[in-house]
Amino acid sequence: MIQRPRGTRDLLPPDTRLWQAVEGVARDVFGSFGGEEIRTPVFEPTELFVRSVGDSSDIVNKEMYTFPDRKGRSLSLRPEMTAGVARAWIENHLGDQSQPLRLYYIGPMFRYERMQHGRYRQFSQIGLEIIGADTPIADAELLASMHEFFLRLGFTDLEIHLNNLGDPEDRARYQAAIREALEPRRAELCSDCQRRLDENPLRILDCKVPACQVIAAGAPAMDELAGEASRRHVAEVEAQLQLLAIPYVRNRRLVRGLDYYLRTVFEVVSPQLGTNTVLCGGGRYDRLIADLGGPAVPGVGFAIGEDRLVEVLPARFRDAVLARSAVYVVPIGDAARARVLELARGWLRSGVPVELEITGRSLKSALKRADREGFRAVAMLGEDEMRGGTVTVRDLAGGSQSAIATADVPAWWRALPPAGERAGRAES
Ligand code: ATP
Ligand code: MG
Repeated sequence: MIQRPRGTRDLLPPDTRLWQAVEGVARDVFGSFGGEEIRTPVFEPTELFVRSVGDSSDIVNKEMYTFPDRKGRSLSLRPEMTAGVARAWIENHLGDQSQPLRLYYIGPMFRYERMQHGRYRQFSQIGLEIIGADTPIADAELLASMHEFFLRLGFTDLEIHLNNLGDPEDRARYQAAIREALEPRRAELCSDCQRRLDENPLRILDCKVPACQVIAAGAPAMDELAGEASRRHVAEVEAQLQLLAIPYVRNRRLVRGLDYYLRTVFEVVSPQLGTNTVLCGGGRYDRLIADLGGPAVPGVGFAIGEDRLVEVLPARFRDAVLARSAVYVVPIGDAARARVLELARGWLRSGVPVELEITGRSLKSALKRADREGFRAVAMLGEDEMRGGTVTVRDLAGGSQSAIATADVPAWWRALPPAGERAGRAES
């Protein structure tokens, strides 16, 4: 039997409903902050990621799906989206539009990673970029949009970790300071970190190997070496977060796995997943577009790991989405079976979500199924009902049953209390 590639997943119903719901909330929230969707290719020239994400990053070093096409051009499946958005911004002259642009995206990313829980080779990100504003309020707005999104999903326990990565000019000083602090312990570092010590010591702070994390804790914090401008910038972002009562913690060891970040960087962690399985990462990237050959245009953005997000969705949101909020329409006898689709089509055109019994089940077996599957209500059509132009409807939450005219089904449906009430009542 042919199996799916390692690290990929089949998303199946009813879980796909959760994905759709999460994506719906993202479109709604980011749209309400003035966001528009952007869709870029799933593969790009390899050079794009080498120049943006950086050739000393883990992503470019060992996680990219890189291949030559039939003409020998080197292409890579996108490991992240910001580089593609920046390329599209330059290539499509988005600078000609009124700035800033708030661009959100939802789609698959690809990284050749070691398989672990919450770590896939094809995974989906939901992200937002604000391009064309270098002010601290832009960072704060971005964080507020993100916070609003998580709130709408019902999260109350997520932690935002925030740090100042300084400006690129401060970076060299910082790299040197880390190298000096950690050089004496070189032999205790993992082989990757020994290489990082030479190439990009900052990366050591991001290493997931426990021994390296202990050693990295002894490195100086970026904040102490950051310049005045970046410190003022991040302080203003923090002041805004405080004003908005958005909780965050200042994490002085937080660095990101991509080279283009500067000043504000942040991550969102869930107590359920732990600090090694981050839900969302982001930050400011004021030099990225210029580094890719475009004008000097600032940007700030984040990417949420949708796979990990769906895994830890609050029960309330999950239950509400998974509750089958449809009317199960059960025909009894041939006369009813002959007319049921026609009747149901009329109801769904009036806004009643219906699901037909089409396998020929008995009424008893259908009612059992309705309960098991958590349908909101059942509509039964028998000989008597067919003759009288009525239908017997049963509210599965409240338990009441009555015969109503088939034309009254939409009004009856609208008068039913929403599906969420059902779970609430069952608890009390
Ligand atoms: P990690 O430290 O977990 O490897 P990262 O820093 O490489 O994450 P980013 O590049 O910041 O991740 O991507 C943003 C988000 O995308 C992450 O916080 C995570 O939720 C998600 N993500 C990244 N890589 C994967 C993956 N291989 N599988 C599932 N989700 C992922
Ligand atoms: Mg990673």
